[in-house]
Amino acid sequence: MKLLRHGPVGAEKPGALDADGQLRDLSLLVADFTPEWMSPEKLDALQAIDLRKMPLVPAGTRLGTPISGTRQFVAIGLNYRRHAAESGHEIPKEPVVFTKALTSLAGPNDMVELPEGSLAGDWEIELGFVIGTLARKVAVPDALKHVAGYCLANDVSERDWQIKRNGQWGKGKSFDGFGPIGPWLVTTDELADPQNIPLELAVSGITRQKSNTADMIFPVAEIVSYLSQFMTLLPGDIVITGTPEGVGLGIKPEPVFLKRGDVMTLNAGPLGTQRQQVV
Ligand code: ZN
Repeated sequence: MKLLRHGPVGAEKPGALDADGQLRDLSLLVADFTPEWMSPEKLDALQAIDLRKMPLVPAGTRLGTPISGTRQFVAIGLNYRRHAAESGHEIPKEPVVFTKALTSLAGPNDMVELPEGSLAGDWEIELGFVIGTLARKVAVPDALKHVAGYCLANDVSERDWQIKRNGQWGKGKSFDGFGPIGPWLVTTDELADPQNIPLELAVSGITRQKSNTADMIFPVAEIVSYLSQFMTLLPGDIVITGTPEGVGLGIKPEPVFLKRGDVMTLNAGPLGTQRQQVV
């Protein structure tokens, strides 16, 4: 299934994409896609709905994040070899982990607002996943059972705040709107293998990133297991898994950063597309 939420900011309703690619409204049956809807039992119940009998969502309706009520937004850094190299880092021996503010979450096509005076806004296309069932000290072979589904993410970053302001990366990753998620959550019944998803991002028509999740250093199962050794992952938590090479910071001889008016377009095959105008 491809689950989504549609409507104005703060008033989104649940929906799903049907087999013909039409957006269907599910608000007659489900109040919202809160974390408890990510359990295998609830997802099975959703499977039983005949989507073609549900109302169509009007064309042009805004999409929000595909899930509401997320309690933790976790990110992995430097998880592709060539991205680690372009960033001037060694290949990490263990996953690099940071968090993004929950208030950075945004719909897949919402505008991205750079903070005042920002000269170093950057893009990072990533595979995201949503936790389905509580995960604590999970072994790698059992890890994917705790995942409800996968989504496209842009880990928008402000490099000066990330690198030059002392301390943690989260500063440059947490501005409002710096976490576009969606357009939909592809549940694991439809996408069993997260390690073969194409990722392509362009800025104002110029392709900047083109890779595949097959190139990840730590695959999703290892990330779930690793995180669960030192933190409890809760249903509805969103984890984004690192970006491949081609970010603005890595462009030689000089970095290229986002300008107001730029448009970021992202494509991740079965996970859908995003489009964000920079303001
Ligand atoms: Zn990232």
